[in-house]
Amino acid sequence: MTSARITVVICQAQGRHPQRRSLEEHILQALLNEPDVHATFVPHLYDMHQNHSGMQFLRSVQGPLVVLGWLYERAIRWTLDRAGVRGQPAETLLKAADDEDPDAQDASEAANERGIGSVDVPDRNLYCIDLRAAEEADAFVEEIRRIRDLEDTQAFDLLQWIQGSPDPEQLQRYLHPQDMLAARQAQDAGEAVSNGDILPEDTRRRWYPVIDYSRCTNCMECIDFCLFGVYGLDRLDRILVEEQDNCKKGCPACSRVCPEHAIVFPQHKTPAIAGADGDLAGVKIDLSKLFGGESGLSPVEQAVRERDTELILDGRQAVGMTVGVRRREPDELDELLDAFDALEF
Ligand code: SF4
Ligand code: SF4
Repeated sequence: MTSARITVVICQAQGRHPQRRSLEEHILQALLNEPDVHATFVPHLYDMHQNHSGMQFLRSVQGPLVVLGWLYERAIRWTLDRAGVRGQPAETLLKAADDEDPDAQDASEAANERGIGSVDVPDRNLYCIDLRAAEEADAFVEEIRRIRDLEDTQAFDLLQWIQGSPDPEQLQRYLHPQDMLAARQAQDAGEAVSNGDILPEDTRRRWYPVIDYSRCTNCMECIDFCLFGVYGLDRLDRILVEEQDNCKKGCPACSRVCPEHAIVFPQHKTPAIAGADGDLAGVKIDLSKLFGGESGLSPVEQAVRERDTELILDGRQAVGMTVGVRRREPDELDELLDAFDALEF
């Protein structure tokens, strides 16, 4: 019976980007020969629906889990959290260049004190790695070897990972990465490959907010602000991105009004909105440039403008600042300005 000490899941790039596909395939190829490691592909993490077989596979993994994707580490972690794939946040040594900041650790600790955190977190390590952190497969393979050697020697039975509903057979493909790899390489060579039971089912591109609960204080500002029915509450009355696909494509408005910068749009072009670390409340750079508009608007003004645009596109009335916009308490604003003033440029 097959078993492994750690599971490595490589989330594929969107589209058929040749360099990205090549990197993914080289990593998987190398890991196929690595003892105590089970590695496989799933589609792009952000694009999978909750009931996609790749998400079900991720949920069924019992032991230490390493997830690699084309997103900032923070965006990977909290996208997984929303899908019920959780673990103790574990340190990785590979970071994307703009995801590194000497103040980031202090910032995360500060955020953790205020944030409501995750729930039902199992006692296993979860490692998230941004595939933009290095160009060569060797760097990722080395990091995965390091993680494997750190982890307990307990091996998890692969076949017991397959459980639940609706269709356990669909998950079988994730146990045969060599077949997946061969099918992908045939695709890359221009051969016709039917997805069949070998490759994960296709996904389409999506756009929705992801909440970083290490920062979120459950203040409910986002649910008041969003007029498109995206947010809801979970069984513990915590804020939840309930109807992900109600969100308006390309619009990041609520990330600008969140006082904790806890709302991530992983595909946004601005690193701070896409989940780059080290960008907490004025610690690093000009907030108006991070969360506001390019035309000198404040973050809230920019958010209101974006929301009005979407309302009008929906055939509704613009509401401006009259709905769901809270006045910042002066001390909050002062804290932000103090942090900003303390910076040395
Ligand atoms: S506005 Fe931000 S901090 Fe407040 S509930 Fe929403 S995500 Fe959490
Ligand atoms: S970006 Fe706009 S539509 Fe999407 S959740 Fe935020 S406020 Fe709602």
